[in-house]
Amino acid sequence: MSDNFRCFKHVGFALDPIHVGTGGAKLRRVDLSIVRDPVTKVPKIPGSSLAGVHRAYVAMARNKYPGCAGQGQPDASGVGGHCCKPDCPVCTVFGFAKGKDSTIGFAGLAAFSDAHILLFPVATREGPLWVTSPEQLRIAGLPIPNVDKDAIYRENNSEQPLNLGWLLLPVEKLSNYADIKKGLEKLGVLKYIFDRFGVVSDKLFSHVVNSNLEVRTSVSINPETGAAEDGALFTYEALPRATLLSWEITCKNPKHFKIGNKDIIAANDKDKVHSIVEAAHPYLEHLGIGGMGTRGMGRLRVLESNASHNQSAEIEPVLKSKSQEARS
Ligand SMILES: [Zn+2]
Repeated sequence: MSDNFRCFKHVGFALDPIHVGTGGAKLRRVDLSIVRDPVTKVPKIPGSSLAGVHRAYVAMARNKYPGCAGQGQPDASGVGGHCCKPDCPVCTVFGFAKGKDSTIGFAGLAAFSDAHILLFPVATREGPLWVTSPEQLRIAGLPIPNVDKDAIYRENNSEQPLNLGWLLLPVEKLSNYADIKKGLEKLGVLKYIFDRFGVVSDKLFSHVVNSNLEVRTSVSINPETGAAEDGALFTYEALPRATLLSWEITCKNPKHFKIGNKDIIAANDKDKVHSIVEAAHPYLEHLGIGGMGTRGMGRLRVLESNASHNQSAEIEPVLKSKSQEARS
């Protein structure tokens, strides 16, 4: 199995608020809401959005493959579209679709999971605290704590309750605090943050996140007049700056695939597939992900993780069993 694919874990730090929208539908109290998990209502970034933005940035970084960046279909005159060649790093790694009704297609050598919140910053009277939950830790492959009370679990318990935004909670001791801290450090999370985290139950987590999102009000500008449009005041929500997200990129072995009966030559192994994807990281940090980029949103710094590069047996079995579960 390990010869077929390898999973690479990533953690990203939001340098700006991040808005990955649902496509304009007014579902909640804001006009432009962000994507949420349908069951837990915790916001996330869909894997398809992650894959799309990585694809665009890898094409930009290589600048030889402009037609391979987007959706793949040529324009009305038949110009452009995915090149679909076995030596193209964009088409082989991210896949392609061509022909009428996308009859010719390849799924791509890299598959993206959704990006889930790993740590969410909340204001407390002691300064910022990064909050997580058993489910978010499980998704990131970290030790899962036992959290059964409506409380905030930290390194030590305290007589003094602590406020998470407007919510006042008792402080309990987290039994496997040290293990989680070590796991966060391994994923590249900064010391300032892993020294200041707390765990709440999954149910509370959803409440805490949804009541501490960034909500902004803006006006639409008419591009012709440069003035605000009439009645164009709108609100939108975003993950706040300093949110940490985790996602997984599964890289398949190129030797097991052919394109048009030809061997893939853009990448010869799983690590090479991953290094092609990584070319997008500086672009994510400077150009960002999601909407409202012109309003100073979206920059995401991908942290330097030990777990995504090492071959150590310690992390890999966790990832493998998880991804086999998810993809088999
Ligand atoms: Zn191509």
